[in-house]
Amino acid sequence: MDLSTLPPIGYAARADAIRLRMASRPIEGLLVTDMTNLRWLTGFTGSSAVAVLLADRMVLVTDGRYASRAEAELGVVGVDADIRIGFTQPEQHQLVVDALAGIARVGAESGSMTHQKWESYAAELPIEPAEGLIEDARRVKDAGEVARIAAACRCADAALSDVVPMLAERPREADVRTELEYLMRRHGADGPSYDTIVASGPEFAARPHHQVGERTIEDGDTVVIDVGALIDGYHSDMTRSFVVGAPSAEQQRVYDVLLEVQLAGLAAVRAGVAARDVDATCRSMISQAGYGDWFLHSTGHGVGLLIHEDPFESPTSKSELRSGDVVTVEPGLYRVGFGGFRIEDLVEVTEAGCRILTEFPKDSPCLPSPPTT
Ligand code: ZN
Ligand code: ZN
Repeated sequence: MDLSTLPPIGYAARADAIRLRMASRPIEGLLVTDMTNLRWLTGFTGSSAVAVLLADRMVLVTDGRYASRAEAELGVVGVDADIRIGFTQPEQHQLVVDALAGIARVGAESGSMTHQKWESYAAELPIEPAEGLIEDARRVKDAGEVARIAAACRCADAALSDVVPMLAERPREADVRTELEYLMRRHGADGPSYDTIVASGPEFAARPHHQVGERTIEDGDTVVIDVGALIDGYHSDMTRSFVVGAPSAEQQRVYDVLLEVQLAGLAAVRAGVAARDVDATCRSMISQAGYGDWFLHSTGHGVGLLIHEDPFESPTSKSELRSGDVVTVEPGLYRVGFGGFRIEDLVEVTEAGCRILTEFPKDSPCLPSPPTT
């Protein structure tokens, strides 16, 4: 899609924001090896690079494949860095070591490198773990990022609207998946955000992360469709659940319970709330309704450059929601023999509550009626 219609992402301010965090640790240099963090910091989208952030400059070391692309991408987003090209791995390593010469304390992202890589840097540089330093800044989205996520949501909304009538025509799960992924691109997405889930029937719809297969969707099935799009590196994430044909009394009852739970989960989202309390809201309502052992996962997760990132709304989360977090609320109920339902919205957390970015209707599990002529 035409990104010039969206607000820009505030790349230019990010290096200084991270320098403030570095100073409070304190570390004098940061070795950025996590490619998602590196993209967030620099705008570089290639598959291999290391960034070195210092108090007065930034150095990006990459290989010959990306020489001109790195220059172009950093230039477009207004990020100032010295780009150094190493044609072999030892050359790249040496360029990183040179960039950090004389720096007394260097933070490094130990979670993103192999032990062997860590050892090779540690042999020459005073590195120490600096986990989460960029992740913690990255989780709060600016207007340009939220606009991309919202645009991705609209692609998925539109594709699902196009595809849902097909469920009544006995398609295979894989056919529904393929149509959704094709139509998201037709509606402007760069691609699917993750492998689209189409889970149907008494056995497969009971699997929260079913692997889409050849099963034919039949009358009476519950169908769970988890679909997201990608725009400029940013993900969307949405699940809607359906019954093919008229819902049975039990299907309608379970759906009604789940919808009430999901709406309560959304109502619990607000800046300052503990992420685990959003999970607790949904979990306790599900237990009270008698479906405690039907809920097989946690309530939600952050979404951004990664489909699953901080903060996580789970019983063990220590995060507090912040204004600008983009998170899912996705309780689900699953039982082999019954099938399952999940309702998932993606929302931007605000001071007053949240703004829902996924707009596909969810008030009923029934397929929309075919147009009458
Ligand atoms: Zn999802
Ligand atoms: Zn999700």
